[in-house]
Amino acid sequence: MQLNIPSPLEKLNFPTRDLSIELYIKRDDLIHRDISGNKWRKLKYNMEEAKKSGTDTLLTFGGAFSNHIRATAAAANMFGLKSIGIIRGEELSEQSNENLEFAVRQGMKLYFLDRTTYFYRNQDGFIDKIRDQFNLPLDNLFIVPEGGANESGALGCGEILQEINIDFDYIITACGTGTTFAGLVNALSGNRKAIGISVLKDSSTIWKNIEAITSKSCDLVEDYHFGGYAKKNAELIDFITYFQKINQIPLDYVYTGKMMYGLMDLIEKGYFKPKSRIVALHTGGVANAMI
Ligand SMILES: *Cc1c(COP(=O)(O)O)cnc(C)c1O
Repeated sequence: MQLNIPSPLEKLNFPTRDLSIELYIKRDDLIHRDISGNKWRKLKYNMEEAKKSGTDTLLTFGGAFSNHIRATAAAANMFGLKSIGIIRGEELSEQSNENLEFAVRQGMKLYFLDRTTYFYRNQDGFIDKIRDQFNLPLDNLFIVPEGGANESGALGCGEILQEINIDFDYIITACGTGTTFAGLVNALSGNRKAIGISVLKDSSTIWKNIEAITSKSCDLVEDYHFGGYAKKNAELIDFITYFQKINQIPLDYVYTGKMMYGLMDLIEKGYFKPKSRIVALHTGGVANAMI
């Protein structure tokens, strides 16, 4: 299995008002072509546990453009496991987009669920309810929650810190489920701080996930969602284009673009103490949302 771990840590060029601040970027986007960024971090221990449990089939959930679906399909394939993806949206099909086609090519079996039923996916007994509808195997299913949002997922994300071989004061990441952020918060020691940038209009699910994983206090910034999940405007796109020009590093507008925009804005606003060293975590990118 070809994984580029430890992922590179690179210096960032960015003209900020406070020139004493040093910026780095942890390139988890370079870990693997199909299991990129934090998706591999979140799957690592889930995969190990699935293998240990003796299961032959993994089941997970996601939206039509979900990086998690893509990554889980590829990882299951790599680990010699069968996989099932429950996809939000009954009107969709396996040919709806490249992401779902990719998952099918990796051997994932897809089932499409209406949004109302999908909403209850984390409730006890949910799998039993949809088992008949989709003729799912009776036992031996290993469930990975949507977005790899569980303790195993967070544990894998905490390991990112061990790979950063410089002294730093802050690490910043985009938050979808908040699992990556919570894993970092849990694993941080000393005076180092983690900052999460929410990409959702309503961060309540992020807070819920965080609280399930860590009891430490958290700095989740909720000002940079640009209207909500996958929403964008010209200012964000311009920023990403500019960033790319001076750093030659691609960002997507769903996660990493908002995180980086938020970081630059927080620096401008004097959020960080002078001479801070900040590591931005490049969590990967949504394939069709790259600028
Ligand atoms: C999935 C994803 C995230 C969200 O990570 P969480 O652990 O769910 O908060 C962030 N960035 C990218 C690029 C992603 O694909």
